[in-house]
Amino acid sequence: MFNTFLLKYGEIFLKGKNRYVFEDALIAQVERALSAIEGDFRVSKSQSRLYVECSGDYDYETTVDALKKVFGIVYICPVRAYEKGDYDKLKKDIVSYIEEVHEKKDFTFKVFAKRAFKTYPVNSQEINCGVGEVLLDAFPGLKVDVHNPEVKLHIEVREKIYVYSISIRGLGGMPVGTAGKGMLLLSGGLDSPVAGYLIAKRGVTLEATYFHAPPYTSERAKQKVIDLGKQVAKYSGPIKLYVVNFTDIQKAIYQLCPQDELTIIMRRYMMQIAEHFAKADDCLGLITGECIGQVASQTMQSLNCTNAVCDLPVYRPVIAFDKQEIMDIAERIGTYETSILPYEDCCTIFVAEHPVTKPRLDVIEKSEENLKDVIDDLMKQALESVEVVMCE
Ligand code: ATP
Ligand code: MG
Repeated sequence: MFNTFLLKYGEIFLKGKNRYVFEDALIAQVERALSAIEGDFRVSKSQSRLYVECSGDYDYETTVDALKKVFGIVYICPVRAYEKGDYDKLKKDIVSYIEEVHEKKDFTFKVFAKRAFKTYPVNSQEINCGVGEVLLDAFPGLKVDVHNPEVKLHIEVREKIYVYSISIRGLGGMPVGTAGKGMLLLSGGLDSPVAGYLIAKRGVTLEATYFHAPPYTSERAKQKVIDLGKQVAKYSGPIKLYVVNFTDIQKAIYQLCPQDELTIIMRRYMMQIAEHFAKADDCLGLITGECIGQVASQTMQSLNCTNAVCDLPVYRPVIAFDKQEIMDIAERIGTYETSILPYEDCCTIFVAEHPVTKPRLDVIEKSEENLKDVIDDLMKQALESVEVVMCE
């Protein structure tokens, strides 16, 4: 029924030169999203808008779903394009549009005509009135409401007559590719995939690092993280995932450091390794799913100790969210079901019963000195163990 989609985006960020960067990134992301589904789509831009034209068969729901995963789109409007003819043809076309698109004919409406093609013989104001009258005649249940209409009927006269009255909310945010790259520490839990999603929503391209501890953690635990990466990638675009073998570092920490400091020391080595790959790939920051007070390793004191080993800024988008809020987002973006699968995580295997909740940096650094004879080799081995998986 619709052969075109009009994509509206926020204009607030679109000053000067940024506009092209933003629009081109958005086009690239729309093309990426549509390339994953069946159909022949052409994306083009014209006057602060993007149009997706669909030729031949395509599935409406699937296409809308794909567009609903693209950051930067504020509204998705399915459009019907009619060949241009005389004013009578236009009126007839609009009546048949309402007939077909709006099942119930008992709404209030207002017509918004726009004549971009100035040689068309009827001007916008005349179209507004004329079409309004024709619709009132054709459908007795309709009423005009110029202040607060339920249906805004847009009629744009261009090379063709474009008609739309449905606006579907998009995700908003900024198109991926407009804000540089970030390195997500991706575990199998609920929080880190949500953290990655939220940062990608601001236009950041994602890479990720996952630490596993074979044979203590299984292939299935690793596959779970890859699946989470793939799910986030539906929004963010492809994610390059570094899978790092963390077993020997963890064992050394376990054997040589105080039990109550295990998690915090482990987290500090994770950050250093993730930062190594981040810097190698020009990422501008690290991203974690940490949240103040959620567990002992996420008190403000603990976060200070973690930050102290990194040069890059650490972004923690869910820092102030309650678990329920994080779970709600996880459900919405489709990571929840995977995150709650019960596979072991390397952090949960080597944990202390009573972890320190207010670690002091000087104390932690002193404990890490116990590792000084082995850690350089172990870090080197961990970096060399890396396996790269593309999540897309
Ligand atoms: P999540 O639900 O994301 O696993 P969590 O509540 O279980 O978080 P922690 O296990 O303390 O919290 O981890 C805090 C953050 O550290 C995670 O959000 C993630 O960014 C990072 N992290 C933890 N474990 C790993 C891992 N095995 N690989 C990569 N990153 C990890
Ligand atoms: Mg976790």
